Amino acid sequence: MNDCIFCKIIAGQMPAHKIYEDDLAFAFLDIRPINPGHTLVIPKAHQENFLKSSEADMCHLIKVAQKIAPGILKAVGAESFNLGFNVGRGAGQVIFHTHLHIMPRFPADGHEIWQGSDEHPDFQAIADQIKQRL
Ligand code: AMP
Ligand code: ZN
Repeated sequence: MNDCIFCKIIAGQMPAHKIYEDDLAFAFLDIRPINPGHTLVIPKAHQENFLKSSEADMCHLIKVAQKIAPGILKAVGAESFNLGFNVGRGAGQVIFHTHLHIMPRFPADGHEIWQGSDEHPDFQAIADQIKQRL
């Protein structure tokens, strides 16, 4: 095994507060939660990030998130949550084993939602550039 800490958590070689496990996925509480109940859902197969993991693993991760999120929310008394992948260092990824954050939210919890810009880029050119590359 590599020295990935999330692989070690799956293998039981590092402690974690596990909340769910099946053949393909594992979920545990984030050690530096943005709010109580902040959970990480990870595929058991080690890959560096969302783009590197298999389609099957990513579909499964979403299924697991949908299955466990209601219980997480009830447990911590939240009604809302953010769901997210950080992909790459520039996006804040610090652990390079694919993981999906489930982040319960509370009114006035101090976490800002993304702020959009009123400065309009050239949408048409950007859309064309993207479509040419898909
Ligand atoms: P990211 O910035 O998307 O790579 O998020 C990595 C997350 O992993 C952070 O929110 C960390 O708090 C969390 N984390 C790092 N080490 C551990 C650990 N040993 N147990 C639980 N969560 C961890
Ligand atoms: Zn790993």
